[in-house]
Amino acid sequence: MYNTIIIGAGPAGMAAALYLKRSGLKVLIIDKDAPGGQMLKTDKIENYLGFSSISGADLALNMFKQIKNDVKYVYGEVTSITKENNFIVATEKESYQSKNIVIATGKENNKLGLPGEDKIKGLSYCAVCDGAFYKDKIVGIVGAGNSAFTEALYLSTLAKKVYIINRSENIKADMIYQTKVKNKENIVYLKNASVTALNDNEGILNSVTLNNKEILPLDGLFLAIGGRPQVKFMENLKEEKGYLIVNEKRETNIKGVYAVGDVIKKDYYQIATAVNDGIVAALSIKESEI
Ligand SMILES: Cc1cc2nc3c(=O)[nH]c(=O)nc-3n(C[C@H](O)[C@H](O)[C@H](O)COP(=O)(O)OP(=O)(O)OC[C@H]3O[C@@H](n4cnc5c(N)ncnc54)[C@H](O)[C@@H]3O)c2cc1C
Repeated sequence: MYNTIIIGAGPAGMAAALYLKRSGLKVLIIDKDAPGGQMLKTDKIENYLGFSSISGADLALNMFKQIKNDVKYVYGEVTSITKENNFIVATEKESYQSKNIVIATGKENNKLGLPGEDKIKGLSYCAVCDGAFYKDKIVGIVGAGNSAFTEALYLSTLAKKVYIINRSENIKADMIYQTKVKNKENIVYLKNASVTALNDNEGILNSVTLNNKEILPLDGLFLAIGGRPQVKFMENLKEEKGYLIVNEKRETNIKGVYAVGDVIKKDYYQIATAVNDGIVAALSIKESEI
């Protein structure tokens, strides 16, 4: 029996774990993957205070090292949370009980919704993870935010040519990334362009068709078109477009259930804001115990 079970070991979940443990509460943290969440998909992080430049993997490891000796960590995917006297959190293998829940499951990547997307090889959501497969090749990246531009910059160091495919004229990426992209000779920026079909040769992507019917030969296509939280494991949570609604204490509409980080509706989705959410939820839980 735990005071709090945290679902998700990204920065939000790990920050909550650190503060809960330090306030003397019994905590369990569960993740279906390696600890770190989206930080593991990030090459360099240059906007987390205290580290002028650090790889996502190193920051994730630093955070995990800080909690791993004091907080019980379980590897597994949470498939359901139900309430009897306490919350019962089930993974594929085990179930655990707690008084409080912190949902810190982040968000999942959006898809283009095109035929073959889940089957054709050559599509990726993570340049840092898969970029090395495209050394000296031609790749595209769909999107116009910071993720798309930073991933394009990363890919431009490996690939021969990188196309940024933006469906509109608006660029959401910060000016610093826009300037860097403009200065890269092997990045071609396409505006008002969207992918309408994925073309393959025996299951391997070889080109995409654009909305103007042009066939763009590509060896790989990266998607950086945002994402949506997937909280299928618990019913009746108040949400908007999949993002959980919380109050200033990070409480959801269900008593004892808190939500933090990218899974909640908020203005800014960053590591620092995720950490902040985790701390606020942990302190709110502690306050409710006093
Ligand atoms: C390519 C990229 C670059 C970025 N660069 C930066 C940057 O430079 N600076 C910055 O501040 N932010 C950056 N971000 C954003 C930042 O990484 C996120 O805002 C932050 O990681 C959100 O933290 P989180 O803990 O809420 O969720 P996440 O990091 O998404 O972690 C959620 C965790 O929950 C786990 N999980 C999900 N469902 C379940 C389940 N059912 N059972 C068990 N576990 C589950 C996942 O495996 C994951 O580990 C970047 C994001 C991306 C994708």
